[in-house]
Amino acid sequence: MSATFQPARGPDDLRPIVRCTCPDDAPLTCPACLLALNVNERDAAALLEHIGLNPAPSGAIEAYRLTTLCKLRLAMYDAEGDIPAQARGRVVVGGRAAGKLRACTAQLLTIARAAGDGWVGWS
Ligand SMILES: [Zn+2]
Repeated sequence: MSATFQPARGPDDLRPIVRCTCPDDAPLTCPACLLALNVNERDAAALLEHIGLNPAPSGAIEAYRLTTLCKLRLAMYDAEGDIPAQARGRVVVGGRAAGKLRACTAQLLTIARAAGDGWVGWS
């Protein structure tokens, strides 16, 4: 499972404002794809906590609030170590590379700025 953060219509309608127009066999480079951040659900929860929100599988926030939260987090110095993958029996639980949350926060800031006075949703 994964979660995608992108400009949304509002808290009651998480459909993206801009639809993907990329051909099936082409790189994801349309305006909708450039303003979408897709991460696995563990990283999505960690990202939401990282910027000071309660982790929820889906939700929405006013873009101006998200802009502020991302700017505050990016202004903090924090050495974010990597989390190694762990094998539990036959299941390997994926880790996270150092700095990934910071990079995702920067991308989320770009999405929030693009959403202007609208909303950013995730699901
Ligand atoms: Zn696209």
